[in-house]
This record gives sequence, C-alpha cells and structure tokens, in this order.
Amino acid sequence: MYIESIKPERVFHFFSEISKIPRGSGNTGAIAEYCVNFAAERKLDCYRDGYGNVMIFKGGTNGYENSESVILQGHLDMVCEKLAECKKDMEKEPIEIESDGEYLYAQGTTLGGDDGIAIAYILALLDDDGGISHPPIEALFTADEEIGLMGANALDASRPHGKRLINIDSEAEGVITVSCAGAVRAECVFPISLEAQSEGVIFKKVTASGFIGGHSGIDIDKGRKNAAIQLAEFLYELSSQTKLHIVNFHSGGRLNAIPRYADALICIYRDREEILSGCLEAFNKQLHSVCLQTEPDAAISCEDALYDGKYADDKSTREIISTVLLAPSGVSAISPDIPFLVQTSSNLGLVSLEDDRLTLGFMVRSNTEHGKAKTVRRLRCLVDSQCGSLNLQGDYPAWEYKKDSPLRDVMISTYEEMYGEKPQVCAIHAGLECGILAGKLNGADMVSIGPNMKNVHTPDERLEIKSVQRCWEYLLRVLKNLK
Ligand SMILES: [Zn+2]
Repeated sequence: MYIESIKPERVFHFFSEISKIPRGSGNTGAIAEYCVNFAAERKLDCYRDGYGNVMIFKGGTNGYENSESVILQGHLDMVCEKLAECKKDMEKEPIEIESDGEYLYAQGTTLGGDDGIAIAYILALLDDDGGISHPPIEALFTADEEIGLMGANALDASRPHGKRLINIDSEAEGVITVSCAGAVRAECVFPISLEAQSEGVIFKKVTASGFIGGHSGIDIDKGRKNAAIQLAEFLYELSSQTKLHIVNFHSGGRLNAIPRYADALICIYRDREEILSGCLEAFNKQLHSVCLQTEPDAAISCEDALYDGKYADDKSTREIISTVLLAPSGVSAISPDIPFLVQTSSNLGLVSLEDDRLTLGFMVRSNTEHGKAKTVRRLRCLVDSQCGSLNLQGDYPAWEYKKDSPLRDVMISTYEEMYGEKPQVCAIHAGLECGILAGKLNGADMVSIGPNMKNVHTPDERLEIKSVQRCWEYLLRVLKNLK
C-alpha cells in the first residue's frame, strides 16, 4: 500500500522507508546504518556509539541559532511478534504496511509504530530545509529499548549536550508523561533448618491457582491477589489449627509479573485431614467473597502426595510463612504530586524453598530514589532479622517529577494554544528510557509524548493516522515555542 501520500507526507515517507528495514531488538545494525547514511547525505554531524545508539546534530534555524538545544529521542528497535499463520521472517523481511483509512497496521505482524513513528518524525525534521523553525536539534536514536533499555543504559553520555529532552515513545495523544519509576531487583535468601520425618505424617501438595496476575508496576494498584501470598495466608490459617511442616514452596519466577500460581508440599498428622479440608473450604469461601468479581477462578486446592525426606523444622516452618506474609508486596506509597500515581511499590515475584534455603525475589519500583531506598531498607531489616542475605541487581534510576520544568510548561501552554484545553500530565509506575536518561543527563528537563497507538507489541498493533498528523503539528509548534 502506498502510504507516502498520507499526510504528513514526509513523516510517512520515512516511516515507509524504515519499515523496509528489519529492526527487531538485537538486530538494529541496519537501521542504525540507515540513520548514519541519512546524516552523511545531508552533511549533518553524526555519531554512533560503541553500543549502536546513533546521534545526529542539526543547528537551529533562522533566529534560533543561539537557542538551547533540544534532544529528540526515540528507539530504533521494535518488538517482532506475528500471527501463528504468518510465514514472514522478521529478521530478514520488511514489514508490509496496510491501512483502513483510519489506522496503519501491518500484515500479520507488529507494525513497529512503537517506536518507528519517533524515528520518522525526527528524520522528517532533520530532512527539512527551511520551512520549520526549531532550536538546535540533537536527535538521539537508542538501540534495544524493548529488551531492557539496553541502548540507553550503554549510551555514551558525553555526546548529548542538550538539557531538555522530548522522548517520543508514549502511546496516547494529549498525554504528557513527566515521570517514570526506577527499579531494582532484590533477592533475599534465608537459611532453613530441617528435621527428619516423624511417624504418622502424611504429605499434601497445596496449590494456589487461577489468579490473574499482571504487570508488577502498571497493575500493582489493581488489587490483584498474589498467589504466593494467598498460599502463605492459607498455610498460616492451617498452622493455627494444626501442626504442619513445609517441604518446599514455589511461586512465580519473573519478578516483573504478579504470580498467578503457587504450590507447596506440606505434611500434617494423619488424623488431621478433616481439619485440613475444613480449613480449605473456609479459606476458599472467604477468598471468593472478596474476589469473585475480579478473580473468579482463584482458589486453593489440595491433593495427596508422596515424599520421603526431611522438611523444615517448627521454627523454620513458622518463619517461612511469616516471612512471605511480612514481605513488602504491593503499593507502599502514593505520589503527593500526581493524582492517583503509585509512587513506590514492590512485587514479590519469586518464592523458592528448596532444601535449607528460602529465596524471595522482589521487583522494587519507585518514582523517587528515596522510595526505592526505603523499600530496600525494609528488605534488609527482614533478612537481618533471620540471618539471611540480600542481593541487589539491575538498579536503574527513577525519572523524578520536577516541580519546576520549563519544558513541561511550554508543552502545556502550546497544547492549550492549539486545542483550547489542557493536556493530561501523567506519570507512569514502570520503567522508561527517560529513567536511564535522567540518570545519565544529569538534571535534564524531560517529557514524553506520542500519537495514539493500540495493541503495541502484538500483531494487532495500530497507529492512528490523524493522531500522527496532530502530534506532528504539535511537535512543530512546541519546537517553535522553545526559543
Ligand atoms: Zn517503545
């Protein structure tokens, strides 16, 4: 389909050009090369760093020569997903763009509007030779955003000089994002004492299943139950009615997902089976009464199991249950600056009890550095209280909300000037490249915007054409106003 006739033509021209270049995460060499050649053909200063991020520099237009520069940023890579029946090799073959007049989409695959539209906007701007007024531009194209913000992480921060940055990787027009969460992965390991099997015990596998889970940041305030915690709640109830020992306990694995499933192997005395079934019935009744609407399939179940070996002793069994229940999981602070924004949270995304070790894994997030440090301190107290150890990994900074942001002010006033109403100013409780960039470009004033997109990262990805046009006009007006 010939999309280059769709307005704004230059933007769709470049969108069409880059769609011909396979650019899944980890495969961004060719698209980076394209950008480097683009700059060379236009005699623009260009720099490709060791990781494969590309920067292109263009001076300010007439009257803007001495203005402060603006960094315009997007990511080069896209998520390659396709329908089961689609035979395309996305490593090698171009995307086939289609349109229904309202949206662009791709035939059987992701479209790569995330974040190809940013690349197209920025190239169209760099390509312009006269019509558009703008301050000096530093285009920043990062690699491998979709697989853990790798390019931004590795960015050589000596090259960008701008102190204001517009990230074009948001998916809702009329929304200006001004903060994102930083995160750290925390692993807590606790020693467990074992004892030999007593006479007269029987083993049961207890399972928590049917929970809906969700994203550890975006969905953490949706009131969804954590299967591991529900299972620990049940074991707590049971242990208050009869003696039990725990052999193993497993849940989750991906720290950025709320666990949907958990199981444990336990033992009780043979004559206590009725207590177990009574407790199970009461617990499920209670569970259904609180989450029948939201998680109708959530339940705890139990089956006979065979086991021959040691298990956690009395004290360790109590500690396993109480540690899971005391572990910080869920929302711990709400933002005082942005309505309804979760500021700090943690997600108990992994529980693993094997032999004499209990491991709990957490994704700790906060839109402030302080909030993250506070949660880490709680975890440290928890491990210290039981002679355990704490291991932190993958720490990246929050993009904190700035009370004073001249760039945000211009974004808001320009929007009002164009549409007669205020845009929505929001923050997200998940990681964006702006978090990494905030850490690298000390003190830079940043915002994130983008045109309407739907179902990104799926073969049903859709990019709204009219919204692309409006966001383009908005971006141009913002640049004009950023004298
Ligand atoms: Zn993106």
